[in-house]
Amino acid sequence: MRNVLHHIHVVQGDITREAVDAIVNAANSSLLGGGGVDGAIHAAAGPELLEACRPLGGCPTGGACITPGFRLPARYVIHTVGPVWHGGFEGEPQLLASAYRSSLLLAADNACRVVAFPAISTGVYGYPADMAATVAVRTIAEFLAERPEDSLPQEIRLVCFSDASRQAHENALQRLREKLRAQDESGTC
Ligand code: ADP
Repeated sequence: MRNVLHHIHVVQGDITREAVDAIVNAANSSLLGGGGVDGAIHAAAGPELLEACRPLGGCPTGGACITPGFRLPARYVIHTVGPVWHGGFEGEPQLLASAYRSSLLLAADNACRVVAFPAISTGVYGYPADMAATVAVRTIAEFLAERPEDSLPQEIRLVCFSDASRQAHENALQRLREKLRAQDESGTC
């Protein structure tokens, strides 16, 4: 895999303050608002966001859809639905990867250069932080590596709310970095 990890940045903070092309919302499948990061995004974007979500008629787990950002500093909100954690044997890793991938495809289709993600599914949906971070980093890296070097998006920000979440993402990024280095040294790709 082409090394694309310099396009991925782990930061700690509140995603509603990210002045980027698109922020990703960890929504529920109704798209009609919830708690956690979803509640924070709707509160910061204003009531127009809910009005924009209503006609979309919901979104399946692993899918994504896009609206304007309204009063947010971000131009767009990409709403995706991560899986609820049921122990890991009900397709959760594949569904989580699909949520990241669907969001990245929409970002690319809408010419977004910089995209900010929260740690999808790791709040109320209960996905263990380390495992979710591993899926997040790997899926984003694979997506970027599959595409031409100058294609969009160019920068992915993983916006972690807590110190523990930031640590989990930094560790996941470091593990992938080491794996790529080992592959490089052994001449495989
Ligand atoms: P889910 O239902 O997908 O688990 P949650 O909103 O409950 O979604 O949590 C997803 C992640 O978003 C959690 O790690 C939570 O700590 C984090 N989070 C909550 N509020 C914010 C915010 N304002 N900015 C960034 N991340 C947030």
